[in-house]
Amino acid sequence: MDQAKKIQELELEIQKLKSKIRIDRKERSFQEQLVFLSNTALDFLSPSELPDFFEYVGNKLLEMIGNSVVIISSFEPGTNELSVQYIDGIEGLMDKIAGILGRKPLQQTLTISKETREKMQGLANKLYRFEDGLFEAADGTLSRTISTALERLVKMNEIYGIVFERNGQLFGTATIATIGKTRIEDPQLIEAFIFQCSIAFHRQHLEAELRDAKKEAETSNELKTAFLANMSHEIRTPMNGILGLTSLLADIELSPEKHKEYLNLITSSGNVLLNLLDGIMDISRIEANQVIINKDNFNINHLIKELNDYYLSELVLIGKNIKLSAETPLEEKDAWIFSDQVKVRQILVNLISNAIKFARKGDINFGYKLHKKNKELLFHVNDTGPGIKPELQEIIFGQFIQGDNSSTRQYRGSGLGLAICKGFLDLMGGKIWLESDVSYGSTFYFTLPYEKTSDSLSRTSDSASGIRKRNWEGSTVLIVEDDYINYKLLESILKRSNARVLFAVNGKEAVRICLGSDEPDLVLMDIQLPEMNGLEAIRQIRKTKPDLPIIVQTANVLNDEKKRAEELGCQGFIIKPVNLTYFMDEVGKILENV
Ligand code: ADP
Repeated sequence: MDQAKKIQELELEIQKLKSKIRIDRKERSFQEQLVFLSNTALDFLSPSELPDFFEYVGNKLLEMIGNSVVIISSFEPGTNELSVQYIDGIEGLMDKIAGILGRKPLQQTLTISKETREKMQGLANKLYRFEDGLFEAADGTLSRTISTALERLVKMNEIYGIVFERNGQLFGTATIATIGKTRIEDPQLIEAFIFQCSIAFHRQHLEAELRDAKKEAETSNELKTAFLANMSHEIRTPMNGILGLTSLLADIELSPEKHKEYLNLITSSGNVLLNLLDGIMDISRIEANQVIINKDNFNINHLIKELNDYYLSELVLIGKNIKLSAETPLEEKDAWIFSDQVKVRQILVNLISNAIKFARKGDINFGYKLHKKNKELLFHVNDTGPGIKPELQEIIFGQFIQGDNSSTRQYRGSGLGLAICKGFLDLMGGKIWLESDVSYGSTFYFTLPYEKTSDSLSRTSDSASGIRKRNWEGSTVLIVEDDYINYKLLESILKRSNARVLFAVNGKEAVRICLGSDEPDLVLMDIQLPEMNGLEAIRQIRKTKPDLPIIVQTANVLNDEKKRAEELGCQGFIIKPVNLTYFMDEVGKILENV
């Protein structure tokens, strides 16, 4: 009896020991898992320092699972593509697998559907077992025969998938196929590790975004600095000329010929400055959506011929050995088109003057032909000049982009010409592009809709344009302006059309006049004014005169004044220096309808 009790006690003891061993083993494995995860967490603190991120993740998965095949793919959200970045566990079988697949497994890309993407999103960071094996895992990209053949070749046991995801962003997938009798013992450990990977992917992604943003900010800062330096140079050069020559003109000893020569030089320096200012204003208008397209009937052949004649004499004047030629393939009667002549001329002038500026010698040919089954005119300006490097070609239509930004650069310019061409063509339903090679020169192309008209219609164009004579007799316009010259300019334009003009030098005076007995029919309000600014004045006027027509006129196009003026119910917005046609049209719209 004693013996039996002893045996029983011993058995109980053995049971206790066994369970203690089990607990110890579990405890050790748990400890090992913790060490594993804390080590990987440390490595992931700076993921960009890992030499190959995908290889690191794949190797760690193999280390955890043992005998298995691991495939890691990255996901590209822009193209919805998964591309295989890592495969391990099938050494020695690669050729056979490639034979069955008909292609190499690494670097394969697969475009995934919206449904698959949504399905993946749902499986984020959770280990999922494909019950139907490789066929299910391949999601329709492998036939059942090929899937089975591969499973047999590799002796696959169970197949799992998991998706790297963080904050709604997908970064890639891991596919794991255990081999032989191997099974996944600790799915939670794998999930915890994959969760770490997703955080690291996200971090890498954010770091890349930050790097790009920093680069962009640096580039735009460099561009701004280069632009300011360039502008300062572009303004100072003609300014120096004007100031220097004006002081020479004071010399009474000068001969009449010299006098005339200096005056001509001053005029040409003034024109250089005006061109620069026009360029800046054009770009500002394009940005502020203030460009008006004034379509008119004109003959494109006449314009091309006129430009050809002008530049032929210019080439003689500047003594450049360049052969200039022009092409006008349409017959005279078919060359009448309905488009914005001023802007077409400006685009051609920009392109031809660039060709002349950058080419030392050789040929320049420009013109147009019919394109897209006669629906478009395709213009070209071709030169045999120095050509444009491919990296510059990609950005050349951006603002302030110049081939040479250095202080020692050879050519003058603001880097605005091509950006203006593109801005105008976008509004005119056209396109602009270039072909260039540093060994044979450049060709700039642009298209315009071919809206054919006839010669007889061209007579009507004057009446359609804004500079026709207006009669605003009986109308009173209040000009609110603190700059006397600007006021005088507007006054003389309005008086030519017989309008009566009132004047206020600041916002307070403007409010007083508008609320007084001599109420104007229209207010032209400047914004930057002493005592009370224009926007505040409009606010005050609107309290009692909500319907009084007000047009804002300002030199400041870079901030949101236009938006604020619209919010205050202003009827128009004019940018200074005033474009006469636009000004007359805007004022006419109001005065001719009261
Ligand atoms: P800008 O001529 O005032 O510099 P653009 O916008 O007209 O500005 O031109 C931008 C840049 O494109 C120029 O600085 C020059 O490097 C390059 N470029 C334009 N046209 C030509 C051309 N025909 N041949 C060579 N380079 C050109």
